Amino acid sequence: MTILVIGEHDNTSIKPATLSTIAAAQQIGAEIDLLIAGSNVQEIAVSASSIAGIRRILVADAVHLADGLAENLEATVMQLAHHYRHVFAPATAFGKNVAPRIAARLDVAQISEVTAVEAHDTFQRPIYAGSVLASVQSMDAQIVVTVRATAFDPVAATGGHAEIEQIAVPPERGVSRFVGRQVTELDRPELTAARIVVSGGRGLGSGENYQTVLAPLADKLGAALGASRAAVDAGFVSNDYQVGQTGKIVAPELYLAIGISGAIQHLAGMKDSKVIVAINKDAEAPIFGVADYGLVGDLFTVVPELTQAV
Ligand code: FAD
Repeated sequence: MTILVIGEHDNTSIKPATLSTIAAAQQIGAEIDLLIAGSNVQEIAVSASSIAGIRRILVADAVHLADGLAENLEATVMQLAHHYRHVFAPATAFGKNVAPRIAARLDVAQISEVTAVEAHDTFQRPIYAGSVLASVQSMDAQIVVTVRATAFDPVAATGGHAEIEQIAVPPERGVSRFVGRQVTELDRPELTAARIVVSGGRGLGSGENYQTVLAPLADKLGAALGASRAAVDAGFVSNDYQVGQTGKIVAPELYLAIGISGAIQHLAGMKDSKVIVAINKDAEAPIFGVADYGLVGDLFTVVPELTQAV
């Protein structure tokens, strides 16, 4: 009952969500192979071989795998899939792109955004924007799972001694073409990987206020910046910043929700944060229901004072 984990990397290093996906797979108690697909990925494969608890690194190295096109990756995974009872991928944009294709090809029901492993065929996953945790048992012969990275502590990136095996890569499918990628340049930690997130909502009133009030606090704390959907929809920041049901799922050590009411769709993206601090002028705002620390006050007064005090 070996498990295949589809590894996500940025052509330089393994993404942290892969380490959390491996942690989830380990809870099944079977051997794990990790697929590293891409172009010129030998160095990544060597560093991945040190990840704790992996049996083999399967390296699929070909020019047409360079840009992570799901159609080509799917073909690579499908030639391996019959060896495995489980196929795991991170529930990131990358994993969500490829895993459903694998599930469809295998004609099985994918189990998405798993937050706990109850048995080899039974998983917990949030439904209704995280209001309910469903326990889902698969009756399929093979199981395709995407893993919510914030729910599993990553395995150690060192200490393992996996063997590295090159695998044959199927030819390019020719059904899609990489055109370009626009990557937001951040001089702050990445939102989903940050230890601290400073998040702002509609209460900030404008993009200019968002930058002048929140950015100095984030800079002092070494934090990533996040936002509610209302702030994104109002154009304060781009949708890369959105936290929530239709944004990013974060679980940092510290989450500051500033001028955010705490709608259920926002909570779905941040309520697993270790410590939540809410600043809001409305003492009845629902965000105080999940906050560990709450400050009722005008953010335009309170946040600069806080920034000064840090
Ligand atoms: P509001 O609800 O307007 O709250 C603003 C808050 O700021 C208020 O509590 C107010 O008291 C406070 N405030 C105002 N001025 C000040 C001040 N000077 N000082 C202190 N506090 C102040 N939302 C998300 O965030 N993420 C999602 O992924 C998401 N997905 C959605 C998906 C669907 C299908 C739907 C229907 C909705 C989704 N939403 C999402 C939207 C969500 O329902 C809320 O509308 C949104 O989260 C509200 O954002 P907000 O808290 O910034 O704004």
